[in-house]
Amino acid sequence: MLFPSIKTEAYLKFRRSSPILLFCILLSAGCAQSLPPPDTLAIQTDAAASALIPLTSPEGELLLYNSESRQDFLPLSVHFISQQNLAYCGTASMTMVLNALGIPAPVDPVYVRFPMFTQNNVFNPETERVLPVKTIAKQGMTLDQLGGMLATYPLATQVYHTRDSNLDTFRRLAVENLKQPGNFILVNYLRKALGQQTGGHISPLAAYDQAGDRFLILDVARFKYPPVWVKANKLWQAMDTVDDASGKTRGFVLISRAASNR
Ligand code: CA
Repeated sequence: MLFPSIKTEAYLKFRRSSPILLFCILLSAGCAQSLPPPDTLAIQTDAAASALIPLTSPEGELLLYNSESRQDFLPLSVHFISQQNLAYCGTASMTMVLNALGIPAPVDPVYVRFPMFTQNNVFNPETERVLPVKTIAKQGMTLDQLGGMLATYPLATQVYHTRDSNLDTFRRLAVENLKQPGNFILVNYLRKALGQQTGGHISPLAAYDQAGDRFLILDVARFKYPPVWVKANKLWQAMDTVDDASGKTRGFVLISRAASNR
């Protein structure tokens, strides 16, 4: 658990009065596994709750505070980046996951001698064979192409198109993943199905709110939208759309280190 168990009002008072202490608790997250699960807070379940909830809102912050499935939030947050052009949502998501998993990285000349994956050096001759960077810069990548790009690294990846899966399976796999360290999940969905502008998009999931059945998307288009909580069925519907570039439905990909690299 990242946070202690505190009721809503007490938490908000604590949050206002003790930001430094709260920050320390956040940083100690990895050592707090023995804490009891937090109380389930009474989150309003009116019509507004079915809409997107920004993580930057008090309600969005509280959902994260009470989540029991947020193992991936901290490592992804440390490496959270903005896609550097409008077509690089898959590239930025892949870069975040490679860094969060600690995969040995090349050096980007921008950082002289310090190795780290960036949206420039994540491409190499192997990824070029999957999909040329010039093509990605124009049109991004499909779910299968994302899986193919990831597979050029020492990773174990499983690509799921919605037409071959269902909401219950997605929810189960995603929640399991979000409870576990050392693996991540990326989702490929149609923005306008969530009421956003507008086309296909790729970003990591970072947490799950069991009480409201919502997932937290760490949207890599940070210049456009904050991270948002979205109902699982709405996210599923947004993934269950056809990508014209592939003729297949969108979906999600599970990523972990390859067995030989754990
Ligand atoms: Ca995980």
